[in-house]
Order: sequence, then structure tokens, then C-alpha cells
Amino acid sequence: MRIAVLALQGAFAEHEKALERLGAESVEIRQKSDFTGGFDGIIIPGGESTVMGKLLKELDLFDTLLKQIKSGTPCYGTCAGLILLAEEISNDDKKYFGALPVRVKRNAYGRQLGSFSKYGDFNGKEIPQVFIRAPYIEKILHKDCEVLSEHDGFVTGVKYKNLIATSFHPELTDDLTVHKYFIEMIKKRNKK
Ligand code: GLN
Repeated sequence: MRIAVLALQGAFAEHEKALERLGAESVEIRQKSDFTGGFDGIIIPGGESTVMGKLLKELDLFDTLLKQIKSGTPCYGTCAGLILLAEEISNDDKKYFGALPVRVKRNAYGRQLGSFSKYGDFNGKEIPQVFIRAPYIEKILHKDCEVLSEHDGFVTGVKYKNLIATSFHPELTDDLTVHKYFIEMIKKRNKK
């Protein structure tokens, strides 16, 4: 199993380590030629959504990635990755892939003191969750969008069709639950 990890900026190396621990190969995406060979899934890491969005356009990667996402390739967006996938961003006039029917709020827990870690639910399991200037989901925009995590009354993890996204960073902890969940999604799709 080969999983593409967008490696322009942010916490991509940590995702690669988690994938390696689960026996999945990761392919770093930095330029268009990295798409050759194909892959079974895509991870869009945390970082800064504005910077990543700009680089995606400048490096001419945006349309290729969007096509992959729309064609049903399983994709996991972490933190800034959630923002890039979201259909609406309430406190930003930008929109990126717009594939995930949620309205997110950037830096929703405050800019300076907005970083914390806690134990929280993910699909019925308690796992460590690290929030770093994280967004949360203010509104779910489609009935098929499933809630996987919540914190303080706001949604922090979702699944919709081939997409999952979390406000928090599981790759900055030792816990592999979210990556396992993503790999299971890929296996299910590959079996079809
Ligand atoms: N605050 C960042 C943004 O708006 C997200 C932070 C993160 O990915 N840890 O893009």
C-alpha cells in the first residue's frame, strides 16, 4: 500500500513515521512528477493552510490533487488539511478543495493559547489528541457526514465518503488509531 503524503510544509514527517509503523509505504508529494506510480491514499498534514494553499497553486499541484480527491481516492486531512478540504471557512474568504461538506473556523481556540492536548473520543475510542492553533467544525453541511470526534460541543473529527479529517494531530502522539482507521478505509476500497 502506497500513501501519498503532501510534503510542502508542516508536520508531514510524523505522518510518514505513523504509516511506517503500520507497514504502509509513504510517498512524499512535493512536485508534479511525484504523482507518477500512483497511490492508494493521500494525507494532507497540519501546518499553515494559507501557505500550503499558495504552494499547491504555485507548484501546479492543486488540480491534480483535487482530481484524485474527487475520483474517490481516500484522503485524510489533519488540522490545516481539514481547512484545505472544507467546503466553507467561516472566518476566511478563501476556499481550497471544497470537497468536505463542513464549515470550519480557523484558529478556533484562540491564536496564542490555542494549543493543548487532551484525551478524547475518536469513533468510540479514547485517544490522545493534540490541538495546535486548530480549527473546529462549526457546522456539518451534509447528512452523510459522520461525526468521529467532538470537543467542548464542537465537532473535531469527521468522515464523509472517501474523506476523513481531524482538527487534532494524532501523528504527534504514539497512538495509531486514526491512521489505522484510514488504512482500513483504503483496504476496503482496494477490495472493491
Ligand atoms: N492555524 C492553522 C491554519 O489555519 C492550522 C494549524 C495546524 O495545522 N496545526 O492553517
